[in-house]
Amino acid sequence: MDFFLYLSRLRQLQSLSKEQIVNAVKTACDFFDMPLPQIGDTTGHPVYSTMFYRGNDKSSFDDDLICFDLQELAYLQVTTYDSLTLVLTHEATHRRTQMYDFPGPNKGSWAKECISDWYMGVRAGMCMMKDISKVIEGLGSTQGCETHPSGDIRRNFINNGFQTGYLNRSSHGTNFEYFINDFKSFYNRMLPDIEKEYPKYYGIISRNFYKKDFDF
Ligand SMILES: [Zn+2]
Repeated sequence: MDFFLYLSRLRQLQSLSKEQIVNAVKTACDFFDMPLPQIGDTTGHPVYSTMFYRGNDKSSFDDDLICFDLQELAYLQVTTYDSLTLVLTHEATHRRTQMYDFPGPNKGSWAKECISDWYMGVRAGMCMMKDISKVIEGLGSTQGCETHPSGDIRRNFINNGFQTGYLNRSSHGTNFEYFINDFKSFYNRMLPDIEKEYPKYYGIISRNFYKKDFDF
């Protein structure tokens, strides 16, 4: 990305007030009927980034922390309030699903990302947020690794979540429960594409011994 464009986007995001950031975290957690977590600013921190950190008790929402790193968000082209709420919805999904075991190698870490991207798309579709296209552009160009699937896979989950949310935008159910079966059926549809990528990132042992099903 052009460096000056990058700087201007960074400045734009940094003009968001602390109050707006707290509000974006709050609405993302409201989407799943969860209380406000503790919020930490990790901008410039060498290790900690924008993410959800769970406390010791994975069955409790009371000891959770959500952090934001403005430089990292700007790099991912997250420069507006709406796109910030989307990334935070991804993190809120990690928070909502912290008590579950996921299928796939490396303790299901790809499936954890897939579900978080998918619900982010759902929320964007329900609220008709145009900024989802920027987030797709940013995340869709990322490389895969042991903890995250490639951008191609992530783009598919965000898009399908968006369509599902858009078609159900008048739903008044509890969002997580209302949509969970739609997520699982899309995950199963995507599974051949996902499994094709495993050999690039996982050794033969982790490719052969992992949990196959969702237990929720
Ligand atoms: Zn994630």
